[in-house]
Amino acid sequence: MKGWSAMAQTIDGALKVAAKKCGIEVDAYLAMRESGLKHCWKCKQWKAINDFSLDRSRFDGYAAGCKPCTRVQHKKERKLSRPSIRHGNRASEAVRQAIKKGVLQRPEERSCTECGNSARHYHHHLGYSDEHLLDVVPMCVGCHQKVHWDG
Ligand SMILES: [Zn+2]
Ligand SMILES: [Zn+2]
Ligand SMILES: [Zn+2]
Repeated sequence: MKGWSAMAQTIDGALKVAAKKCGIEVDAYLAMRESGLKHCWKCKQWKAINDFSLDRSRFDGYAAGCKPCTRVQHKKERKLSRPSIRHGNRASEAVRQAIKKGVLQRPEERSCTECGNSARHYHHHLGYSDEHLLDVVPMCVGCHQKVHWDG
């Protein structure tokens, strides 16, 4: 890789960390990188640089984990998040219908259970299961984001 050594001087610190992570000296690390290899922090293997996807946020422009490793991770995340999103949509649809039919007031007509400001959303405080589709509390945008992101 041309220009790698020159670039290395400016990113000396990051390099030291990277080398330390794979348990070798910076010189050895550089030699490996110059031969087109990169260490994957997940599988702890040296792999061809082509096995890493580009990541501009990283000091060397490549993702920290190799493609097979990051792919496995993505799959896991998707598995976890999908069902709850689907149920969440179903629950918000139920709330939308209830408001339309006049079963629930529009959240704007109520105040946030957390802070008392005027509400904008309904929050499913008991979760998204079938029996709780309409178990909602009015919340303002800020408080609603907080319960989902901090909890
Ligand atoms: Zn890997
Ligand atoms: Zn609030
Ligand atoms: Zn909510």
